[in-house]
Amino acid sequence: MKGDQAMTVFIKRIVKDQRGFSFFMVGIGIMSLFGMTALVTDFGRISLSRQRLVNAVDSAAIAAARDFVFIEDPYTRDMTARQRAVDVAVSNGAPIGGISVDIVNNKISVTAEQSVSLIMSRAFGVSQRAVRAHAAAMVGSITSYRGVAPLTIKEQPFIYGELVTLKYGSPNSPGNFGALALAGRGSRNYKHNLINGFSEVVKLGETLDTEPGNMDGPTDGIDERLGRCTNGCTYDNFEPDCPKILVIPIHRDDPQGRDSITVTGFAAFFADREATGSSGDEIKGYFVRMAAEGDPDFFNPVTSLYGAKLVE
Ligand SMILES: [Zn+2]
Repeated sequence: MKGDQAMTVFIKRIVKDQRGFSFFMVGIGIMSLFGMTALVTDFGRISLSRQRLVNAVDSAAIAAARDFVFIEDPYTRDMTARQRAVDVAVSNGAPIGGISVDIVNNKISVTAEQSVSLIMSRAFGVSQRAVRAHAAAMVGSITSYRGVAPLTIKEQPFIYGELVTLKYGSPNSPGNFGALALAGRGSRNYKHNLINGFSEVVKLGETLDTEPGNMDGPTDGIDERLGRCTNGCTYDNFEPDCPKILVIPIHRDDPQGRDSITVTGFAAFFADREATGSSGDEIKGYFVRMAAEGDPDFFNPVTSLYGAKLVE
């Protein structure tokens, strides 16, 4: 009997110890589960805030860069671009006090900082965490463009709002009225490109054929295009994708008859045959400063058609 009693005590102790061990293990488990939840919950909050901040600075930098396109006076341009960056960042969720804008030449950098309140990590003594995002956009002349009108004019110091003849009613040089033959000569091609824009990309330095002759009838194709504007746009207030905006290649040549030109840049014009009093075989347009889709060249002076791009 004595031996049996000793055995019982021994077994009870083991059972008791195991229970203690299990409690200990469960305790550890709860703690680490809590710790994991804290990490996951707060990590989610941090990455969400960071993503929102990244979007905010990206949009702000691009929007501010586009302001460079419209304003010529450097002081006004800087002030406007700064304000635009802050406005756009705030409207995309960045805190107004945490935004800084830096402008050097044609590069606009936007940095935003925000402190994120943590929920679960407070149990571990961490209640806040700072998140930061940075973006920079640059502006430059565009080096390629898809959708040019089949017209061309000689490079010149264009003035905003200046009325320029893009397609002449009488030749400005023998046999040339300002028309381009894109993807082959012929009036059908010319008219199609006038209505829809040339479907291929035209690049700086590319050689393009001229379309000789007045092309009187096909030039009326422009009216179909201009008629697609339904917003009552004017040259100083137009939608960015307005069909009345014609982007055309510019050159430094003197084409004669069947000839070719070398593209030295692109310029945008707001065309309105009625408002400009153009005759049936003429197209006139107001020179406009605008941003366009295409590859900007940051090392060439911004002369005609601008492009903005995120660089950081
Ligand atoms: Zn329009």
